[in-house]
Amino acid sequence: MLVSVLVEIEALKEKTFTYSVPSYLEPNVKVGKRVCVPFGKKRINGIIIDIIDKSEYEVKDIIDILDDKEVLTEELIKLGKKMSKMYISPLMSCYLSMLPSALKFNNNNTKIKYSIYYEKIKDLDNPSKGELNILNLFNNNKYVKSSDIKNKTILKRLIDNNILKKVLKEEYRLRKIDSNNKLKKLTKHQEDAYNNIINTDKNITLLRGVTGSGKTEIYMHLIKKYIEDGKNAIVLVPEISLTTQLIDRFVGIFGDSIAVLHSSLSDGERYDEYRRIRDGKVKVVIGTRSAIFSPLKDIGIIIIDEEHVDTYKQENNPRYNTLDIAIERSNYWNSKLVLGSATPSLESYAKAIVGRYNLVELLERVNNNKLPEVHIIDMKEELKKGNSILSSYAIDLINDRLNKKEQIMILINRRGYSNYVICRECGNVIKCPNCDISLTYHKSSSTLRCHYCGYGTNKPDICPKCNSKYLMLKGIGTEKIEEYLNDNFNARIIRMDRDSTSNKGMHEKIINDFNDYKYDILLGTQMISKGLDFPNVTLVIVLNGDSNLNIPDYRSSEKTFNLLTQVSGRAGRNIKEGIAIIQTYNPSHYSILYSKNHDYISFYNKEIKIRKELYYPPFCHIVSIRILSNDYEKGNIEIQKISNYLKNNLDTNYIVLGPSISIKINNIYKFQLIIKYKEKELLYKVLNDINNNIKLRNMRLEFDFNPIKL
Ligand code: ADP
Ligand code: ZN
Ligand code: ZN
Repeated sequence: MLVSVLVEIEALKEKTFTYSVPSYLEPNVKVGKRVCVPFGKKRINGIIIDIIDKSEYEVKDIIDILDDKEVLTEELIKLGKKMSKMYISPLMSCYLSMLPSALKFNNNNTKIKYSIYYEKIKDLDNPSKGELNILNLFNNNKYVKSSDIKNKTILKRLIDNNILKKVLKEEYRLRKIDSNNKLKKLTKHQEDAYNNIINTDKNITLLRGVTGSGKTEIYMHLIKKYIEDGKNAIVLVPEISLTTQLIDRFVGIFGDSIAVLHSSLSDGERYDEYRRIRDGKVKVVIGTRSAIFSPLKDIGIIIIDEEHVDTYKQENNPRYNTLDIAIERSNYWNSKLVLGSATPSLESYAKAIVGRYNLVELLERVNNNKLPEVHIIDMKEELKKGNSILSSYAIDLINDRLNKKEQIMILINRRGYSNYVICRECGNVIKCPNCDISLTYHKSSSTLRCHYCGYGTNKPDICPKCNSKYLMLKGIGTEKIEEYLNDNFNARIIRMDRDSTSNKGMHEKIINDFNDYKYDILLGTQMISKGLDFPNVTLVIVLNGDSNLNIPDYRSSEKTFNLLTQVSGRAGRNIKEGIAIIQTYNPSHYSILYSKNHDYISFYNKEIKIRKELYYPPFCHIVSIRILSNDYEKGNIEIQKISNYLKNNLDTNYIVLGPSISIKINNIYKFQLIIKYKEKELLYKVLNDINNNIKLRNMRLEFDFNPIKL
């Protein structure tokens, strides 16, 4: 027997080798198991990815098989091969992204919890009464737990006489979640949506439902149906903070057959969940991005909630997009795939309109709860009154809500690069002359740069539009706001951002505490903008509603619209009506105006025109090709070579932009070329040529398909 083994050697390009299997190991061989193999004079580990007939070369024996059960199912082995091609990414990196770290090579840290059990290996003639008491326990069970056997003296005798044998069995760490949530009876609208999703002959449905329209309730009904049909389900959410509330709702209905996968599990917990799924003990997996790889079989439905959110894109190798993977898995199992959102990505909605996806829309909230009233506040006017952080209207309403014992959410979307230059007189944000995209202020070189085309200029002293000298560098973060609120209001305030949730379990704690009214105000970053459902929240305030508009990205308007629509959707989800306040320096920007009216369609129509004019997705695809180098000159030479190669080998159907050069991050320069394309064939050929032939020293080549940041 011969097997093809993918081995983990960073330096080698080709990493699959053929080995023979000694006959005593043959019964144990299975694709997807990890093995130890000889490699030169060393032993290394790998994964069996194929069983093959013959080899042209003389081959060596594998040394050992490391797993009793395969760690990657046949489906996932196939999926990895496909991913590796799709993203031009090493096959091993694809498999490693599917495995919990406990199963990655050289991980000896994860503690597996074992319990002692006994197994009966033969019968005993004429047992005594005491012996019989113990042996009877085995009548209905193959294994009996040590703690269930009381008389240890007799137990020892049975072991010594080879009647019973001790076995160690891996235990799943106990998880205890209680919930008394029940399925609600679907409203007429929900039921129509539900039936439509089940009955359409398309596998993929885009469910556009306004915030609070009861999408989650529909998901649960759908999952229940597919479970009754003997199938399983995966539910993906964009942020770990959303798993908390979802689990509460799901556990009441699906009980123990749920597994939860997200980044704040310990390696051990994650491994336990992984095994519960693989061992067929789980029917519903709920999790963030990587949960799409859970080794679940017989998938009947996959749900991607808030499908428009960026976190579904993985930002290191393999740079996969969860939707691509979900489509592959849904094809494999012929399962339903539901993309849910109040503000679908432009790409998804465009596909739904032309009929590539089934489109289902829910345009009203459950029980006719109103969508919140949205007020847009022009901060240029407020500044004149001396209000730089909160507008007078916001201050009044905060006091009003505090008096009424209702809760408030405040969002400040500071994402680390919120430093931009804005004119205090005319509200002008300085933009790139070639791209109509705002320039990013680079402090180290005191320049303004375009991340798209490479344009750069010194930071001006006066506004290019009105000559005012009052140019401001903008940027306030959550902590500064927290301080401000504490100084100005008598309220209990909790902050939720990456810093305040870095400890394990903090997401849950903050959400549960806020839900239990231990706080009046929840202040946070975009983490709090999506999906959360707090019935007592009647006021939502967005401090810098335009911060996304100043990020140099062709999707900045879309991101702004999405964020504002989502966040105002957090208000008034129950009987009490809600108000959302959006503070901005761009009160007349279409993203802001359309989100005020929750008007997705008008926004879509306007934005899609712009995309068409500028030739951006969904009218083309984008791939970014990057060289990462700590040596500026050498990196520059390499990216020029690639640029020339592209120009000589791609035809006029491909538009190549750049190279552009970003400043140093972590002492690494990033050189980038962007290709806009429609046809894949020639592109993949050319990119693979580059990948296979390039020789880099102390540098890295990266391909990023449909990057979320340019
Ligand atoms: P979405 O996911 O679209 O934001 P949810 O499913 O969270 O909406 O529903 C919003 C609120 O309405 C939740 O509090 C939910 O419990 C409630 N709800 C949803 N469907 C129903 C229903 N059929 N009957 C009663 N309440 C419902
Ligand atoms: Zn100006
Ligand atoms: Zn530009």
